[in-house]
Amino acid sequence: MCGVFGAVLPRGSGTEAAAVAALGLFALQHRGQESAGLAVSDGEQLMLYKDLGMISTVLDERRIPSLRGDLAIAHCRYSTTGSTIWENAQPTLRLGPRRALAVGHNGNLINTRELLTQLEGGRSRLPASTDTELLTALLADEPAADTVEALLNVLPRVRGAYSLVVLDTKRVIGVRDPHGFRPLVLGRIPDAGPTGLAEPGEGLWPNDPGRDGWVLASETAALDIVGAELIRDVEPGELVILEPGHEPRSVRFSPPNPALCVFELIYFARPDSYMEGRNLYEARRQMGIQLAGEHPTIADMVMPVPDTGAPAAAGYAEASGIPYREGLVRNRYTGRTFIQPSQTMRQRGVTIKLNPLREVVRGRRLVVVDDSIVRGTTTKQIVALLRKAGATEVHVRISAPPIFHPCFYGIDTQIETELIAARNTIPEIRDFIGADSLGYLSIKGVLAGLGLPYEQFCFACFDGHYPDPVPYDAASHKFMLEEPVVARG
Ligand code: SF4
Repeated sequence: MCGVFGAVLPRGSGTEAAAVAALGLFALQHRGQESAGLAVSDGEQLMLYKDLGMISTVLDERRIPSLRGDLAIAHCRYSTTGSTIWENAQPTLRLGPRRALAVGHNGNLINTRELLTQLEGGRSRLPASTDTELLTALLADEPAADTVEALLNVLPRVRGAYSLVVLDTKRVIGVRDPHGFRPLVLGRIPDAGPTGLAEPGEGLWPNDPGRDGWVLASETAALDIVGAELIRDVEPGELVILEPGHEPRSVRFSPPNPALCVFELIYFARPDSYMEGRNLYEARRQMGIQLAGEHPTIADMVMPVPDTGAPAAAGYAEASGIPYREGLVRNRYTGRTFIQPSQTMRQRGVTIKLNPLREVVRGRRLVVVDDSIVRGTTTKQIVALLRKAGATEVHVRISAPPIFHPCFYGIDTQIETELIAARNTIPEIRDFIGADSLGYLSIKGVLAGLGLPYEQFCFACFDGHYPDPVPYDAASHKFMLEEPVVARG
């Protein structure tokens, strides 16, 4: 996961790019809650502020005004390589003799060990233990005329998932790996006038495209919040170069071989975002309709596991004719269970964030719709909560296939033994979570809901077909850059 955002405003707009980037990042908080940061350029030098914690506490109103400049990148982190320590927060920053640059990265590299051998001085030169820090160091060291040329030299050696926002003193560059595992979109703020968030026709420079602001974001929902219109996806294998006062430039560093993470559409991304031309709320509702067809049951009500199960639950209710009701209330200020970094925190998280509506569930047969079962512990606790609140039957329906295989492309499920479906049959999972019945949507059902072909997506955690073959040692690599420099934990 991770959320990235980049902003370039026209010179003299009177708005700091940091304010726009921070605002855009707020729309991406669901993608990573371990740390947040912002790097800016005023055309001459880079400045960075980052810390552990949620975006609202790291990038508060006291920090933003001191981060001055027309160019900015921002990042919120969900760790897949390296511990949750301050050093590993992003953006990364390198002020080297060849160039100064900052990088925000969504994704996970799969040839980190190999890349480390290419860094002069090796691990001793890395102040942090992330694949992003290593990539930033390689880019800073690269003998090249500018950052774009450095990217063109280095990226062909890099494998795995990377949607990047790269900042140097003069430009912001958006990068998407040749498979486009993680999303990245380009948007335009028309007439980015004094507020930088201008209403149409209210800017200083009407009809002058050189006065537009340009932004890059992990999801389209982050464009909406800053008043930007969606121009297009950054293509797999493409660099998009943004400079103040200029139209974006595109440079291709690899032919596209698309394999967008299908889990982005099923679960991770916001329902108000668009991917592959699909609104994700509608796509998930359609998956719920498919789920009802594949796994019908007799019940009194359909309810979602809030919030991400709601669109599929609505679809299930619609297709089955069983009434839709809310049966659980979520405390919205505790974060998402799955993306907390340790098992202990995950277990604590679920018990404090969901509370059943006893009057609604008592004496009823429930269909409970969720979008995934990873380790099974969360679902088990939810079923127990609902039974304790008086539910007479709990039928669990999942709007995704079982997760059999680990992900090496940016989701922290790298250890197969942590995946309940990898070592249990579906009846065994049903018994473990304590449900009366359990049904998963098939890959065919996901595709029918999306209305898109298999070839566009990565389905590796469901079917084991990894679009970018994973080196044998990749499975051990979340903490590989910190042995023995930083203790695991
Ligand atoms: S393995 Fe699964 S979670 Fe990872 S990128 Fe592929 S579909 Fe997404």
